[in-house]
Amino acid sequence: MQICPRLEIDVNKIKHNTLTLTKLCKEKGIDTAGVTKVFCGIPEIAQVLVDNGVTMLADSRIENLVKLQGINAQKLLLRLPMISQAKETVRYADISLNSEIKTIAALDAAAKELERMHNIILMIDLGDLREGVWQDHIEHTIGEILKFENINLLGIGTNLTCYGGVIPNKTNLSRLVEFGEIIEAKFDISLTIISGGNSSSLYLLEKGEMPDRINHLRLGESIVLGRETAYGDPIQDTYQDAFTLVTEIVELKEKPSVPIGEIGMDAFGNKPVFEDKGLRKRAILAVGRQDMSVQNIIPLDPNMTILGASSDHLIVDVTDCTENYAVGDEVRFNIEYGALLQLMTSEYIYKHVK
Ligand SMILES: *Cc1c(COP(=O)(O)O)cnc(C)c1O
Repeated sequence: MQICPRLEIDVNKIKHNTLTLTKLCKEKGIDTAGVTKVFCGIPEIAQVLVDNGVTMLADSRIENLVKLQGINAQKLLLRLPMISQAKETVRYADISLNSEIKTIAALDAAAKELERMHNIILMIDLGDLREGVWQDHIEHTIGEILKFENINLLGIGTNLTCYGGVIPNKTNLSRLVEFGEIIEAKFDISLTIISGGNSSSLYLLEKGEMPDRINHLRLGESIVLGRETAYGDPIQDTYQDAFTLVTEIVELKEKPSVPIGEIGMDAFGNKPVFEDKGLRKRAILAVGRQDMSVQNIIPLDPNMTILGASSDHLIVDVTDCTENYAVGDEVRFNIEYGALLQLMTSEYIYKHVK
């Protein structure tokens, strides 16, 4: 018997997805940063990305970049650096995304101390309202950045569809390119990278609407789950099931569908409501909300429905299933991004890379 609960990670599917996407990008002159945060920077998987066309590895956490040290690829820190981690940022990231002069000054000081140059990409907020300088501050910020001796301004970038849900399109990405061209003319410099976003920008490639000068994308979800994230559509010639959650049945019984007794709060302070469907066959699986949000997992058995979960128990209805389940059997789930992020982080989930 294998360890449960576990995440089965099919690296061949990730390899295929990486190849498909880096090829698609390369055809349009776009380099790909492979984003490793959703799989917590597992080096074995990161190596597959590097071997199949990504030109750099990107993660939001220094801890993950440390794990990737042994891999021969440029490292990009995605989350704006913390000043308290300036030194680690310079040490473990070749490039970081930035929007604060105070932080860039700390990176410059750290780079001086470590006797090296640190590359930055200045983030510009095109309206999603997460990170980035607002357009009326771009020129002033660039002027300040160019004064630092140990900072190299590698380019500009943007992030969309993360906080505000703003979808990248020809108009807003063309504005990013225009800002780049204004900067180049005004300061007589050339920007090596114009980074046009994450997996939500991919659909523009297929539509032929990606502005020419966008030459860099940072891809996470599209590589691991084969999904573009502007509209949530599967990407042609990719796998959506490189990750599978495998759980084990610890109880299987017929019970009423409505609890007996006065209904108070559940384990999370909510008052549950129940529909009476009579007697149902229910399985308890040994996984729970400590490991993931149950909204983002989908039973592979189409006739199984999720009834609910507490911290350590997931309850499913198997009455309509054709398979004759028994205690000790394994039950498999396909997973979406939100659950994957949590499952990867849970120390109670065994990660089986195969
Ligand atoms: C997470 C992240 C990405 C990758 O996003 P996906 O939607 O997974 O492709 C890109 N850029 C930044 C700044 C991020 O934080």
